[in-house]
Amino acid sequence: MNLCNIKTVKSLLARYSTDTKKGFGQNFLINPSVPFDIAEESFNYHSSVCQESACVLEIGPGVGALTSELCGRYEKVVAVEIDRSLIPVLGETMADYDNFTLVNEDFLKLKLDSFLDEHFGNAPVSVCANLPYYITTPILMKLLEDGGGRFASITVMVQKEVAMRLCATEKDSDYGAITASVNYYGKVKRLFDVQPSSFLPAPNVTSTVIRIELYRDKPYSVKDEKTLFDVIAGAFAQRRKTLLNSLSSSISYIPKARIGEIITECGFDISIRGERLSIADFCTLANKIYEEKAK
Ligand code: SAM
Repeated sequence: MNLCNIKTVKSLLARYSTDTKKGFGQNFLINPSVPFDIAEESFNYHSSVCQESACVLEIGPGVGALTSELCGRYEKVVAVEIDRSLIPVLGETMADYDNFTLVNEDFLKLKLDSFLDEHFGNAPVSVCANLPYYITTPILMKLLEDGGGRFASITVMVQKEVAMRLCATEKDSDYGAITASVNYYGKVKRLFDVQPSSFLPAPNVTSTVIRIELYRDKPYSVKDEKTLFDVIAGAFAQRRKTLLNSLSSSISYIPKARIGEIITECGFDISIRGERLSIADFCTLANKIYEEKAK
């Protein structure tokens, strides 16, 4: 079955008395070269960093356009789909693949570590998905915070605007809390853009496929990750303010004068803004703040 043919997809959905749902961010791929290229990118990178078995987690398989490409490459594919009406559809479209497991859950509600243990044991896992855009950031942060150590890579399609933010450096205007946070876990690569005409229905924006190449050993030494993420969130909470003013609102347990001293002890100008700090800078600052808190 050609899962990128508009007529096939429409009649398939109609046969199961369902349709695309905006509320679940459903924009299905109808340009066959796109799921092919995403799966190739994901699998080739996975194979280059993991010699052992090849497993992949997909979030939101839809009717299975990307899923079938993943099943043709990976040894094991586990997909989590929130929309109950797509479960029988996928039962039909994925019937030929015995390396496929479907889980009908809200990905954001999964207990990720036990889910990964149950489905993949100790095997290295990559993530590959055309993400529902309404929850891109929470999905990415859940993958990184709850499963970061377990994943080899994360290859996902996101809105172009989000991709620009994720790939920005502290010299760019797109740089933000999400950029710094993701940079802590790995390197982000922009792979290719996808035009709205490649989807059913067409979204209003251009999309971009990115890959987060996760560090096996993080290059940063951080005393307390919670302090790091609190400092990053605090630094970007009020973008127009200086780092000192932003942090003195969010890190209320340390007097403002002492935060000022810490900023200069880290080697930063006292008038610097948070958006000028790289993830390495944030780690240095967070470690000093953590030490101060522990005094
Ligand atoms: N992978 C398919 C494709 O590329 O054609 C569909 C991608 S569509 C952009 C996003 C998919 O994510 C939909 O199937 C949608 O139902 C599913 N989805 C939305 N929210 C979800 C959630 N919280 N947990 C799991 N799946 C979700």
